[in-house]
Amino acid sequence: MRAILLRFGELFLKGENRHLFENALLNNIRKKLSGQKFKLYRTQGRIMVSDFEDEEEVVGLLTKVFGLYSLSIAEEVDATVEKIIDYIKTIKLEKGTFKVEVNRADKRFPIKSMDFASELGGVLLDNNKNAEVDLYNPDRKIVVDIRNNGKAYVFDKTIYCQGGLPLGTSGKALLLLSGGIDSPVAGYLMAKRGLKLEALHFHSYPYTSPEAKQKVFDLAKKLSVYNDEVRVHCISFTQVQESIHQNCSPEFMITIMRRIMMRIAEKICQRESLGAIVTGESLGQVASQTMQSMTVTESVLKKIPVFRPCIGMDKEEIVSIAKNIDTFKISILPFEDCCTVFLPKNPVIKPRVAQAEAEEGKLNLEELIEGALATEEIVVIK
Ligand code: ATP
Ligand code: MG
Repeated sequence: MRAILLRFGELFLKGENRHLFENALLNNIRKKLSGQKFKLYRTQGRIMVSDFEDEEEVVGLLTKVFGLYSLSIAEEVDATVEKIIDYIKTIKLEKGTFKVEVNRADKRFPIKSMDFASELGGVLLDNNKNAEVDLYNPDRKIVVDIRNNGKAYVFDKTIYCQGGLPLGTSGKALLLLSGGIDSPVAGYLMAKRGLKLEALHFHSYPYTSPEAKQKVFDLAKKLSVYNDEVRVHCISFTQVQESIHQNCSPEFMITIMRRIMMRIAEKICQRESLGAIVTGESLGQVASQTMQSMTVTESVLKKIPVFRPCIGMDKEEIVSIAKNIDTFKISILPFEDCCTVFLPKNPVIKPRVAQAEAEEGKLNLEELIEGALATEEIVVIK
């Protein structure tokens, strides 16, 4: 019978929390495989999946579960000398070198690991005249894992998964999701650290098209592969932008917009019990992402931090992750999100808090924020 051995890396580091993390991981795996036939169980620090029908599909789904480090597809046989040898006899080796490694978690097994490995190596050599043994740098390593449950697992390949921490084990946060390349990547990276995300999108309908909003839902759909369902809070930013445009100096447009976005985001976080704001900012990428701009933007926040996982990345690095998570081709579609609508020619690069506050003095902030919040629609993407 085929079985998949799952390994979880960082969970070992978590001491007393380990059970919590393990349970979360098991639940997340169950959820991920819920459309499949499968059995999930654990033995001695390993999680196993068996009794599945579509191996490729199941493996594909498992490689998207955070907290899993790697997996191997194994043949499960009864842990007796005869049964293991019978199976080893069925293995066909190509021309090249190999090595057999035996791990004996069950010390009742009658032959010592090293001795059994060389016996099995002998069986393979007899049946595969082209193959040679190389203990140090083999082309193929065949592992025989003898467990305490009376079963042995034979496998020879390791498939790497996402790593990270099980979704939800770090809490919940709000991703500011635009239609660009960076914010979906930021969401993926923080979900990978165990943060379950909701998303907040500002649109400027009718200045922006319905396609721009659809694009954000399509991105949320890609994120849902890693984040389970994504609740997207959509807010109209049109009035805010018009009001800033009419009342404030053009070079402060973006600074003020971003401060108002943060204030609205914090209010939603408080209402929905979300513990941080996540953005796709990268240091120096554009005028609003200088150190001074970020200082001025986040100084409006009272209770929660901003996480910016892309802060130290080059665009190429961000793009490469965007391609891996399949958001890139959606992000580069031409529909504008709200930010590009009233873009000034010369935004301030090094704003100061006092200047931003003076510009905001020209607005009715409370009313603008309440007005924007009143336009909120919540769409659940799964
Ligand atoms: P992105 O590729 O994510 O659009 P960007 O390089 O275009 O990023 P900005 O437009 O300056 O950068 O936005 C910086 C961050 O602010 C984004 O990564 C995102 O987290 C947030 N943001 C920008 N526009 C919006 C929006 N319309 N709705 C929600 N969040 C936004
Ligand atoms: Mg953008």
